[in-house]
Amino acid sequence: MNRIPTLIKDSQRLPELCPHDRASQPMEPTGILVNDIHSQLNETLVNRVACSDSVQMIQAVIEQAKAECRAISIAGGRHAMGGQQFGADTILLDTGAMNRVLNFDRREGLIEVQAGIRWPELLSYLDRVQVGRWPQWGIRQKQTGADRLSIGGALSANAHGRGLRFKPMIDDVESFTLVDADFRLWTCSRRENHELFRLAIGGYGLFGVIVDVKLRLVPRQKVQRVVRIIDLQDLIPAVEQRVSDGFLYGDFQFSIDSESDDFLRTGVFSCYQPIEEAEMPKRQKELHPDDWRRLLYLAHKDKKRAFHAYSTYYLSTDGQRYWSDSHQLSEYVDHYHEGLNGQLGPSGIGTEMITEIYVPRTSLVQFMEDVRGDLREARANLIYGTIRFIEEDDESFLAWAKERYACIIFNLHTAHTREALERTAEDFRRLIDRAIQYGGSYYLTYHRWATRKQVEVCYPQFVEFLKLKNKYDPEERFQSEWYRHYKAMFADAL
Ligand SMILES: Cc1cc2nc3c(=O)[nH]c(=O)nc-3n(C[C@H](O)[C@H](O)[C@H](O)COP(=O)(O)OP(=O)(O)OC[C@H]3O[C@@H](n4cnc5c(N)ncnc54)[C@H](O)[C@@H]3O)c2cc1C
Repeated sequence: MNRIPTLIKDSQRLPELCPHDRASQPMEPTGILVNDIHSQLNETLVNRVACSDSVQMIQAVIEQAKAECRAISIAGGRHAMGGQQFGADTILLDTGAMNRVLNFDRREGLIEVQAGIRWPELLSYLDRVQVGRWPQWGIRQKQTGADRLSIGGALSANAHGRGLRFKPMIDDVESFTLVDADFRLWTCSRRENHELFRLAIGGYGLFGVIVDVKLRLVPRQKVQRVVRIIDLQDLIPAVEQRVSDGFLYGDFQFSIDSESDDFLRTGVFSCYQPIEEAEMPKRQKELHPDDWRRLLYLAHKDKKRAFHAYSTYYLSTDGQRYWSDSHQLSEYVDHYHEGLNGQLGPSGIGTEMITEIYVPRTSLVQFMEDVRGDLREARANLIYGTIRFIEEDDESFLAWAKERYACIIFNLHTAHTREALERTAEDFRRLIDRAIQYGGSYYLTYHRWATRKQVEVCYPQFVEFLKLKNKYDPEERFQSEWYRHYKAMFADAL
């Protein structure tokens, strides 16, 4: 491997608590309770939280952890829901303060950022420094369900957006720098330390701390939204048509009303087509946090009205113009369910859990038909559902996009009682079984409810992944609840 030696200065002190953790400090003196943002189902007592804004501070944290024989977990935006960013009794390294742009190569369209930077910060930087210049660069893709996610988190899950013909994030990464368990720095790319490059992208923080990332940008374009209400069985031909017509982005938001014949069949098909010389409007229709809160309320209380309101709104935006990067931003109201709990009453208390299922495009209609029956039978409470599209990832080690899949996202409401959680976990396992039936798979980032058999079928390289984790980090300095779960699951094979 290609080593770049670095020194840690004596004067470097250990980083302090992050303000939001300090604010929510329990009286408990022995740890700090942390949790994920969306599901709130990963409450973990970490030993302490270290906020670092430089490579040197991160190295100091790792050195200190080593001296204490303590493991480290790494968090960006805290949106993963399988416990990947937290570990009981670990030092939680919060990367939120590592949010600077380090270099922007305007000629080549490459940008180097610290890994804790979140999408809105990156987009607003690009906006600011390119005012009045043409052509401009923008990001190609980001997650579309929320914005305050870090680039380090996006790499670690090998995330994707709503591109109609893109591979996952790994395809947008030129290189990154990783600090390992012995606080050494590694440059990882397709040319240097390639194995580590393939492992850390989609490797959920288990190989070290990604400190900076060089991303490849794409020319920023004007795009026009084209919205149609269509039937699921017309979706795949419609997508292929859009792709051949040059559309770049798109998705299909399907009906969530299990009592209607439209359930999982009818959807809002919104796509984005590049346009040339159009004036960009100063103002146009958009959903504000209060609109989202209302839609979320309806999705819990009156699904028919929710889908009607959502589709009517979307149809009314047909023809609106956007920028190819910023149209991917979407409002996410942190802790929205706390507000809903009061409105919905006792039966509505809980949160949502997401799962993302992959099936070959040719099996999409039949898969959804089966799932219609399954979700109705289980009386699952579907809050939203989307279908997106992905090209095969032939690079990352733990690749989820094993082929040109349709990606189906189900966001289910769950109460937090033991019985309700077991029912939701069972609903998710049934969805995975349906995917497997059609040669598909599922996304590891959203939960760790899959059975060993399901993991083995969908990720046959998982044991090898854990062995490589051991090769690069034999003292298991980087750990999480997610890692501990799979280490225990596959203990006999390791
Ligand atoms: C509402 C919602 C919408 C979502 N929408 C999408 C979507 O559209 N597409 C999609 O692909 N995913 C989506 N996700 C999943 C999300 O992309 C992943 O869970 C992502 O990893 C979260 O990033 P984060 O910054 O919140 O990271 P965290 O949740 O804090 O951490 C996630 C993982 O990244 C690791 N990590 C973070 N930073 C670093 C670093 N600097 N070095 C090493 N490891 C690091 C952590 O250790 C952990 O394993 C969504 C999740 C939610 C809750």
